Amino acid sequence: MALIKCPECGKENVSDTAKTCPNCGFIFTHMKKRDKKIFAVVGGVAAFVVILLVVKLLLSGTSPAGKATKIIETDLGYSIDVINIYYNEEQQGCVVEFYGNGIKETACVYLDDNKVGYESIYNQYIEQSNNAVTNEEKQKCAQRVVAYPYNVYWILNLTMNGTNDESGWEKIK
Ligand SMILES: [Zn+2]
Repeated sequence: MALIKCPECGKENVSDTAKTCPNCGFIFTHMKKRDKKIFAVVGGVAAFVVILLVVKLLLSGTSPAGKATKIIETDLGYSIDVINIYYNEEQQGCVVEFYGNGIKETACVYLDDNKVGYESIYNQYIEQSNNAVTNEEKQKCAQRVVAYPYNVYWILNLTMNGTNDESGWEKIK
C-alpha cells in the first residue's frame, strides 16, 4: 500500500486503495500499473492496425486494380466483387470482370481519363445497330458503338486468342 496526495483538495497521505478522499470525498479513479500496461499495449496494437488500414487504402487507391475498381464503383454507385482484372500499361486500360448487384459484368476502364464502358451496354448498342432500319439510324447507332469506351476489351480478347502479337496485358487480380 502506498500513500498518495488527493488531486482535488491536496490532502496528503491518503491510501492509494481508498475509493474516495477522506477529506473532500473526491472519487479516485484507480488505474493499476498492470491495467495501464494492458491499456498501452491494446492502444498500440489498435493504432498499428489503423495505420496499416490507412496505408492499404492509400496503396489500393493508386494501384491500377484499385483505381479501376474505384472508377467502376463511383460510376455505378455501389460496391462490386471483382473476379479478374487485366491491365495494359500502354493503353492505361483495365478489363474488369466483376459481380455487381448479383449480375456478372465485364467493364473496360480507362485509367487516364476515368472512362468506363460495360459489356451489357455495349451489347445493347450493337443490337440497336443491327436492328436499325434507315441509313440515318444505322449511321447514328454505328457511331455510338464506336464511341462507346469498350475497345480495350477487344485488344485483350485478340491477345488471349493469340491473334494479337502486341500483348502488354497482365492479369493483376
Ligand atoms: Zn481530497
